[in-house]
Order: sequence, then C-alpha cells, then structure tokens
Amino acid sequence: METSSKIVIVTGSNKGIGYALMQRLVKHAPRLTLVLTSRDESLGKEAVNNLIKEEPKCKDSLHYHPLDITNKVSRDKFKEWVQQTFGKFDVLVNNAGALVSGELYNPEYIATTDDVEKVIGTNYHSTRALTETLLPLLASDGKIISVSSALAAWNRQGEPLLKIFTKPDFEDKNLEEIYTLFKEAVAAKDYKEKGFVKSPYMVSKALLNAWTYYVLQRSLSGDQQAFTMTPGHCRTDMGGDKALRSADDGADTIEYLIVDVPFKFDKEISGKFFAERKVVDFVEGINL
Ligand code: NDP
Repeated sequence: METSSKIVIVTGSNKGIGYALMQRLVKHAPRLTLVLTSRDESLGKEAVNNLIKEEPKCKDSLHYHPLDITNKVSRDKFKEWVQQTFGKFDVLVNNAGALVSGELYNPEYIATTDDVEKVIGTNYHSTRALTETLLPLLASDGKIISVSSALAAWNRQGEPLLKIFTKPDFEDKNLEEIYTLFKEAVAAKDYKEKGFVKSPYMVSKALLNAWTYYVLQRSLSGDQQAFTMTPGHCRTDMGGDKALRSADDGADTIEYLIVDVPFKFDKEISGKFFAERKVVDFVEGINL
C-alpha cells in the first residue's frame, strides 16, 4: 500500500493506556495510519469497531493485526504482514506489558523464578525481540517508543543492580548479567536480604530503559530515534482503580513523542527516558 501518512504500530492496544493512546491518535487520521494489535483477536477487533464508532473518519486509516509479543511465530507473522501491507513503518509503540498480582502493593510478596521469567520475559526480552524483528522495516527517520515506568529508576533496583546499571562502560552483555543475577537471587530465596528490589516488574522496566539507552539507540542510523517513557500510575487493569491518573493522562507523553517530537535525530533526547513530556534522569527517576 502506498501511503504518505506516518504508520504507527501500538502493541497491546485493545485496552488500558494502549487503547487510550489509540483514542487520541485516531483524531490525527489520515495523517497517521494506525495499527492496533492485541494477543486476543476478538478483543482487538472489538476495540477497532469502538474506535471507528467514536471517530468514523479513521476507518480507512485504522488497521488490525493479532500480535502476541511473547510468541516468535506471532512476531514473525506480524513482520511479514507489515512488510506486505506497508513495506515499512514509522513508529513502534512498545506498550504491551505484564505484572504479577501483588508484586507492587503486597508487602508480603516474594517473587518466584516463574514470575521473573513471565514479567521480565514479556516486558524486556519480548519487547526487545519484537523491536529487533521489526527494525529492518523502520523508516530512516522512524521512532521506537517503549512504555516504561517510574519504578524503572535505577536507584530503586537495589545496590547490587544499581552498580551495574550505572557502569560507565555498560555493554549489551550487562543486561543479561543483571537478569541472571536477579533470577539466581530469587531462586536462592534470599534476594531481599542481599539488597535486591522485590519486584521483577521494576527490574524489567529498568532493563528496558538500559537497553534503549545503552544498546538500541546506538544501533540506529540516520534520523531514527528511540525513547522510553513513564505514563505515571494510571487507572487500568494493571494500575488498579485507586491510581490518580486516567489512562488518557498516561497516553499524553506517548502522543507527544509521536506527534510533536520531530522525525529528525536529536542527540539531546534520543535514547532518553521521558515523563510529562520532559527528559527524566535514569538513576533518580520521578515520582508519578
Ligand atoms: P493493561 O493491563 O490495561 O493493558 C496491558 C495490555 O498489554 C493489554 O492489551 C494486554 O493484553 C497486553 N499484553 C499483555 N501481554 C501481552 C502479550 N504477551 N502480547 C501482546 N499484548 C500483551 O495495562 P496498562 O494499560 O496499565 O499498561 C500498559 C503499559 O503501561 C504496560 O507496559 C505497563 O507496564 C505500563 N505502565 C502502566 C502503569 C499503570 O499505572 N497503569 C504505570 C507505568 C507503566 P490482554 O488484554 O490480552 O491482557
């Protein structure tokens, strides 16, 4: 398909912040061509129908394709579809994410290695795998935007991990070193005593930030850019109903990075972590 509008892919966009982002983005149709994806096809198609009802002018600009980011076959099929349908794409929003119940708010919570594999596997390993699969199709001025968390601040991950995250000569292999160290400490059941953070979710998002900054953005070329951002604590199935922010509030900075940040490499911001439309320090983070 020949199109001069920017092609934007959003993972896990059938509900929550991903869907709220879609509600904002359809207002930019036909300047934006949108791809809503979900692991459950019926939920995804229902979301597409609801968006068309809300904003009928987006009908021809809104596409759907199933995508389970943790499944290699699904990732490969999706890439093939993007290639055949559009040839390339302009923006990938890595929004899909997982959290184990009780991980953040139950003081008694103790992680298992299954939790580590599921949460870090989805939020870091599968997000990275999807991005690497799609990267050959990214436009020469395209953007990769990954939804991280305020809980990703490196100084919140505990002393053993903070030391590695802040190494001046951080390399790709340090990402897997962090994962293995954390998983082994969880398996030994003494990870809290050893000073590690209790939550695999926090480590997963800290890894996402480190991968984007230290590895991904350095591998990009031309005007391509990569960003991470935190939506803040929002009322969604994941965030619960007590959060102060709406899913729409959470989508604001993502929309900003897509629509307002120029499609032109800017060394001041590429690779960086955003909140409330501004760059945030990786170590200190922000309370949001
Ligand atoms: P929701 O639980 O409402 O939505 C999560 C979305 O991710 C759903 O569409 C879900 O699909 C999808 N998903 C989960 N696993 C996969 C997978 N393997 N493949 C494809 N899609 C998948 O959560 P939020 O909207 O709150 O979260 C969106 C992002 O924002 C996440 O990355 C989260 O970590 C982040 N975030 C959220 C905060 C909050 O307070 N809400 C705070 C900080 C960050 P399904 O419907 O099938 O489950």
